[in-house]
Amino acid sequence: MPSPYRILVAEVLLRKTRAAQADVIFTAIVEAYPNIAHLASANLSHLRALVMPIGLPRRASDLRRIARLIQARHDGHVPADAESLQALPGIGPYIAGAVLTCGFGKAGIAVDGPLARMLARVAGIRTRERAHTDRRILSLYSQLIPRESRRLYHWSLLDVAAARCLPRKPLCDQCPLVAVCALASRRRRNPVFSGRV
Ligand code: SF4
Repeated sequence: MPSPYRILVAEVLLRKTRAAQADVIFTAIVEAYPNIAHLASANLSHLRALVMPIGLPRRASDLRRIARLIQARHDGHVPADAESLQALPGIGPYIAGAVLTCGFGKAGIAVDGPLARMLARVAGIRTRERAHTDRRILSLYSQLIPRESRRLYHWSLLDVAAARCLPRKPLCDQCPLVAVCALASRRRRNPVFSGRV
């Protein structure tokens, strides 16, 4: 089971980075620095060398800074509440929600752009550009994630959103949500319709 520390590192690396790229350096970082204390005392040059494959050396100083603050404020333990997480540099609602949901199994809200798009389509919610901040979508996400197996449901939704609910041509015939999806229903009634909700 992934620890809150590993989830936090992964989510910081995934910011504006594709999962395949982040995956490679994630393993190297958590092997070299297996907990907050190790990361807080990391040699910055070494850490930068590890993150270099994603071309974002600043991510190294971000990680070490976060680790040092957790060390100082929370005795080396990743905090388990949204307020404390979001008080850390570069940690917004999405990363905080992901750490709570996937690291602690708590009721965090972690909705990124692709997931927001998919939920809007399923529920037939019309959204503007920042759908991931739309209260209706965040509420729907909360209702969909059961108390048990939060991680599993969260990751499953992310996977379907990324692999099936593509921006321009959603792969509805390969999607497990097709039977309950408002957009898929609309497309069945009007096969030429493929537009956004
Ligand atoms: S059925 Fe189609 S539109 Fe609906 S969630 Fe799945 S891929 Fe997206």
